[in-house]
Amino acid sequence: RLAPADYVAGILGRERSILSRFITLLESRRLDDRLPARQVLTALLPHTGRSIRVGITGAPGTGKSTLIEALGLMLTGRGHRVAVLAIDPTSRISGGSILGDKTRMIALARDANAFIRPSPSGKAQGGVAGHTREAMLACEAAGFDVVLIETIGAGQAETAVAAMVDFFLVVLIPGAGDELQGIKRGLMELADLVAVNKADGDSARPAERACALYRNALRLIHPVDAPWVPPVVACSALENKGVDALWPQVLAHRAALERTGQLALKRRGQMVHWMWELVNASIQHALYDRPEVRAVSCRIEAAIHDGSMNPLEGADCVLRALGIR
Ligand code: GDP
Repeated sequence: RLAPADYVAGILGRERSILSRFITLLESRRLDDRLPARQVLTALLPHTGRSIRVGITGAPGTGKSTLIEALGLMLTGRGHRVAVLAIDPTSRISGGSILGDKTRMIALARDANAFIRPSPSGKAQGGVAGHTREAMLACEAAGFDVVLIETIGAGQAETAVAAMVDFFLVVLIPGAGDELQGIKRGLMELADLVAVNKADGDSARPAERACALYRNALRLIHPVDAPWVPPVVACSALENKGVDALWPQVLAHRAALERTGQLALKRRGQMVHWMWELVNASIQHALYDRPEVRAVSCRIEAAIHDGSMNPLEGADCVLRALGIR
């Protein structure tokens, strides 16, 4: 571990190894890592906020990493510095890491202007949202002007990511005609752009049909006078077709939101959201660690497990132990 000032100097000096070590510190579950991590973040904050923040979600196998690699290489080719943060929901269960697999994004990983970092979605410091947002800020302080945050369409992670980015890209693939049924309405509501990937070979025509379906669905979700109705585009990450058409959409969305002042509003709203996330996470930690709670929680959990107590009674017991009920 370094001294806070050394992390700050290293990150502002764009040293990727120091940035990496700082993200490890953010992910640490050790209580005594929290204060230095916070000190570093506080010093970095004035140097953050200047990137284009894009969330990318989709089920495993839809081609997100292939797409991110193609998009990332296109962006670094245009002089951008691109950070990719991937939330890995498997690591908590398996201890392993699918997203961390070194075979993903090989060319982008070798690019001097790219930084790729998979993160376990463990429970440290406020969970996924906590350290991913902080890692994003650290990347911005390290001079990355595009941050791509990848999550594999698994429940809370995508909502959490949508609450920290400017733009949310949903990656889908053409199915067997029943596409819409498989898609959660909530996911479509988060989307600023839907990319139907694998629009190549035999899938090219089904992809066009899927695009038409999604376009109709999105029109129903968004009012006609909305400042931004999410476009639906077909692409092939594998053949690098249509990928270059994605970025202009990100920029057009940005321009539309900047015109109306909504981008600044969105970012400020996200700061408030972040504040409550921090408060909630700390309250939870503090509560669970209270001796009154520890004294009763095992017994109550066991009673709920064996059916001798229902969860309503259990919650009352814990709250009574805390003097709240
Ligand atoms: P992820 O799990 O969403 O990150 O998906 P990957 O990027 O790892 O891709 C899963 C599989 O789909 C791999 O075998 C890719 O080669 C393949 N794939 C990705 N994009 C495309 C595409 O545009 N067209 C086709 N035909 N295959 C693709």
